[in-house]
Amino acid sequence: MIDYHVHTFLCDHATGTPQEYIEKAIDAELFEIGFSDHAPLPEHLRQNITMEPEETEDYVTMLQVLSDKYPVAVKIGFEVDYPLHPTFDARYFTDTRIDYLIGSCHFIGDWPFDHPAFVDEYTKRDINQVYRDYYRIVYDMVASGMFDIIGHFDLVKKFGYRANADLSTEIEPILQLAAQQLTAIEINTSGWRKPVNEEYPSFEIIQKMFQYNVPVTLGSDAHAPEEVAYNFNEALSLIKQAGYRKIVGYRKRKQYAITL
Ligand SMILES: [Zn+2]
Ligand SMILES: [Zn+2]
Repeated sequence: MIDYHVHTFLCDHATGTPQEYIEKAIDAELFEIGFSDHAPLPEHLRQNITMEPEETEDYVTMLQVLSDKYPVAVKIGFEVDYPLHPTFDARYFTDTRIDYLIGSCHFIGDWPFDHPAFVDEYTKRDINQVYRDYYRIVYDMVASGMFDIIGHFDLVKKFGYRANADLSTEIEPILQLAAQQLTAIEINTSGWRKPVNEEYPSFEIIQKMFQYNVPVTLGSDAHAPEEVAYNFNEALSLIKQAGYRKIVGYRKRKQYAITL
């Protein structure tokens, strides 16, 4: 199996060394581990969320060196915030050392809605509008065509605040577009470690993804070595239950199939 969403100490909120993540991947019998640490945000937003612009080259070089030392394939990616910020050098979008880019939305305007310190804001807003605003950004992110993978598709549910409106008119056009462009959506198991206590996205959305033929991939969003491959048996069983018989991996931004 593969884990395409793991972090490093460079983002300042993950623990352990990359070597420890790789060793955990080997223990878990993964054949690929993909690092996708947080690409640099501007300083006023960064606050222990991402690496600094000066660290991106060290990050890529560190992973290149490690990839030669282990029997497991080490993939090099970034988790990039959308909307984009100029602090992430645009040349990484065409850099052949990069295997894949995950696009993620962690901000609605200036609100870091998945940050525990700002959770109160959910009680101050119309929750259905929060979800609509979030999915609007995700739609634009997919439409940009800049990303291989969409990170934690329904992250806005993280703290358990649920929309009560039907959001299919927001969600289905995103799935349709992702399918057309072959943009993958990751099954991200970190939701099982958060108040919402379920994977991203929900099983209902995974079933729709299968109907639309959206490529699927898999990530733990590990911020500690022991979180690598977290709850993968459960995730794989949901993926198969939805109908999938393969997931996708990437090499130098080229997608390939991995049979389940
Ligand atoms: Zn993080
Ligand atoms: Zn994220």
